[in-house]
Amino acid sequence: MHDFIIIGGGILGMSTAMQLQRTYPDSRMLLLEKESAPARHQTGHNSGVIHAGVYYTPGSLKARFCLAGNVATKAFCEQHGIAYQVPGKLLVATNELEMQRMQALWERTAANGIQREWLNAGQLREREPNIQGFGAILVPSSGIVDYTEVTAAMAREFVEAGGEIRYGASVTALQEHLQEVRVQTSAGEFACRFLVTCAGLHADRVVRMLGLDPGFSICPFRGEYFQLPAERNRIVNHLIYPIPDPSMPFLGVHLTRMIDGSVTVGPNAVLALKREGYRKRDISLADSWQMLTNPGLLKVLKANLRPGLGELKNSLFKRGYLQQVRKYCPSIRLGDLKPYPAGVRAQAVSDDGRLIDDFLFRHSRRSLHVCNAPSPAATSALPIGAHIVEQVGSQMQGLPIFTKTKVVRCDAA
Ligand SMILES: Cc1cc2nc3c(=O)[nH]c(=O)nc-3n(C[C@H](O)[C@H](O)[C@H](O)COP(=O)(O)OP(=O)(O)OC[C@H]3O[C@@H](n4cnc5c(N)ncnc54)[C@H](O)[C@@H]3O)c2cc1C
Repeated sequence: MHDFIIIGGGILGMSTAMQLQRTYPDSRMLLLEKESAPARHQTGHNSGVIHAGVYYTPGSLKARFCLAGNVATKAFCEQHGIAYQVPGKLLVATNELEMQRMQALWERTAANGIQREWLNAGQLREREPNIQGFGAILVPSSGIVDYTEVTAAMAREFVEAGGEIRYGASVTALQEHLQEVRVQTSAGEFACRFLVTCAGLHADRVVRMLGLDPGFSICPFRGEYFQLPAERNRIVNHLIYPIPDPSMPFLGVHLTRMIDGSVTVGPNAVLALKREGYRKRDISLADSWQMLTNPGLLKVLKANLRPGLGELKNSLFKRGYLQQVRKYCPSIRLGDLKPYPAGVRAQAVSDDGRLIDDFLFRHSRRSLHVCNAPSPAATSALPIGAHIVEQVGSQMQGLPIFTKTKVVRCDAA
């Protein structure tokens, strides 16, 4: 019998496992991951940006955790010798409407407590000769890192402190009883006193395995990137972002100087017909059927038909994609857009047809589930893990078997 089982070897599962192990050092912990290594899904297929917290509704979990996560991620990298850089981010306005939206973002950054600087067109040109715009907001604290490396370091710390990780263990069924949760996997059956799930693209399915109604479904959105040729690596000095449409804040391709010095363009957001479908041709009939028969999802797709079709068109025709980036970086040419692996975002959609904006958690008596953790959840992984540990602690107060530093066995209690 384990004291805790954590499902999911992405950055949230590993961060939670590491911090649970620190808090309950004498307990027996197991992390289950269906792939053969950590960070094989969202965590290993993202832009690698250490976000500052610009866009998020003041007071939301995203705003709070991102701000704290920006500092915590950099500190974690320092402690573990992981390379990271802080080039800062420029949000570039390319027309009058975007200048108005930039003003609104300026106010939001103030409300979120983010240090920033207003640049006029001349100041923007001085900093970025290849970028054109009416003006920009400079956010100096935005950084870049490889989240696969961060996750691997968390996994090492967890194992060194006594935790166990089983890769190749796909969870297929869950049963919650009065004294334990039973976990069936492709690698055998396990039991624990408390379960935490961080299953990303399968978050809703894992909650359903417990017989609970999650109240949401995961909608997968593929984020497609291109990479610029090596001779274009010096094209920008900062991370360059367009000013987003406030109703679609996650749309708009950006230029990212990755930690290895290469520059990527993207991602877009195209409805994926398979949850872990990284290529355009990846289709799962089961996943597609589930989406197309889900009234909440259909409502979201209908409400966002125009931008959705726009993203699809630009995914199929590179020229459309190019136009988006040429708005602020006109020297990029079609031949500069080289293939680069895509990622798939897990976006929760509520049963009544809303894109769930903030991070979302659900729980039962002996379990806690991360249900919605899109960007900036990689940046926020350390505060999210700390939040989960705190929540688990308060939930366990209702269960007579745990103390803060030692988990007392139920049968001995
Ligand atoms: C294209 C893209 C760009 C992004 N850019 C950024 C960025 O720049 N900065 C940022 O902060 N965030 C970014 N994000 C968001 C960030 O990557 C995610 O929010 C974060 O990685 C979520 O981590 P996770 O651990 O919840 O999910 P995941 O990394 O997806 O991990 C979930 C794990 O659970 C496992 N699992 C699922 N079901 C089961 C099961 N039944 N049994 C066993 N294991 C299971 C999966 O195999 C997987 O390894 C981006 C995301 C995408 C897709």
